[in-house]
Amino acid sequence: MNFVSVEGNHQRLDGGAMFGNVPRALWSQWLAPDEHNRVELATRGLYVPDLNGQSVLFETGIGIFFEPKLRERFGVYQDEHVLLGSLQDAGTSHDEIDLVVLSHLHFDHAGGLLAPYREGREPSLLFPNARILVGTEAFERARQPHPRDRASFIPALPQLLLDSGRLELVEGEHAISLGDAVRFHYSDGHTPGLMMAQIGGKGGVLFCSDLMPGRPWVHLPVTMGYDRNPELLIDEKQRILELVIELKLKLFFEHDPECSLATVTRDGRGRHSAVAAGP
Ligand SMILES: [Zn+2]
Repeated sequence: MNFVSVEGNHQRLDGGAMFGNVPRALWSQWLAPDEHNRVELATRGLYVPDLNGQSVLFETGIGIFFEPKLRERFGVYQDEHVLLGSLQDAGTSHDEIDLVVLSHLHFDHAGGLLAPYREGREPSLLFPNARILVGTEAFERARQPHPRDRASFIPALPQLLLDSGRLELVEGEHAISLGDAVRFHYSDGHTPGLMMAQIGGKGGVLFCSDLMPGRPWVHLPVTMGYDRNPELLIDEKQRILELVIELKLKLFFEHDPECSLATVTRDGRGRHSAVAAGP
């Protein structure tokens, strides 16, 4: 399968929040914090030019839809909608994409769907010709967020998707538009109904989204402060890593600042680590 990693806007988030209960002395060796204790994170997508006869983008990154105050708060410092440029570099454009697949609707995954912020203008969707695939449970969560993660959603987005007439809700292992080309796995530890795409069988790629945002989180006990249920997440991660090892899947990371693709190894004591398999 031919695919391209497409960088979106980076963000700078509190390092402590990204690593849950891991002590700073440890996580700061994995990702170096800046003077405000923030770590640099990617928000990237995976573009497949031809999957089941269609061009598909998995995840849109954070984009630049925020008004200036929120942009500052969430550490989105680049002025351009970086993903759009990355798609150009990959030889396509947002209006040529046939399908956009979103693992969940937190703003750092779905914000790139929206046009850049302009004062006085309502949020509007990019990707005018794409069907947008979202898991049913993740979509419901975005419509009715819990106070715990309300701030992670874009209030206007669910209605925009419904009004577009291009929303395809996904339940179960396969989506109508993708057939057998993609098998979906689900996890509830980060947010209810997080939908991870397995592209291809043996030797394929798993877009693991916020179950494992980057290499450090492949180690079982490492979770994010943002996860709603860390113990559940660890159990789910263990199960999915069994599958990853069995099928020799590569992991595709949305947030790892320096590594988009990795293989997973497990040592004699059962400790998992990620080994970079690409930039
Ligand atoms: Zn998330």
